Amino acid sequence: MRRRDGSMQRFNVAPLFATTVCGDCGLELRRGNLGRHRRARHTPGYVPASRARSYYVPARTRRELELGFVYVLHFSRPVGDHARHYCGWAKDVESRLADHRAGRGAALTRYAVSEGIGLQVTYVTTGTRRDERRLKKNRRLAQLCTSCRPEALARHAELARERRAIKRAFSNVEP
Ligand SMILES: [Zn+2]
Ligand SMILES: [Zn+2]
Repeated sequence: MRRRDGSMQRFNVAPLFATTVCGDCGLELRRGNLGRHRRARHTPGYVPASRARSYYVPARTRRELELGFVYVLHFSRPVGDHARHYCGWAKDVESRLADHRAGRGAALTRYAVSEGIGLQVTYVTTGTRRDERRLKKNRRLAQLCTSCRPEALARHAELARERRAIKRAFSNVEP
């Protein structure tokens, strides 16, 4: 503040906070904050508590998104009424197939093996357990299976042709 005689008045105010300087980056910090600053800025992989929630991925989701292989097993003859394929996920398809053949796999393949039905891997792709679930749901395994694909695609084309023919027949009818 300027005095009447023109000179500046100096206020002798004590600093609000005692500060320290970080030895690593030279940043001036409140004295109590040095430890937190060093952990946050100078510790690799450290996640501050305020960010921890957004960094966290639940174990179930991590399991769902683990990358491995999605495979399709083709049965040498239908199991039960109509099951011709089985779809699964594995890190190592070879050893998983050995498990299936030894009767240590899923309920369906265990039953198939007990009935003397052969198992063969006819389709493999990289994917997650989530991909496997999606594939199980859409139930078009025959279109992926290399030994059923030509037939399945032909059947699909046949159905599409019939559907188009029906549509054409109805569109020609005068109202
Ligand atoms: Zn620092
Ligand atoms: Zn097949």
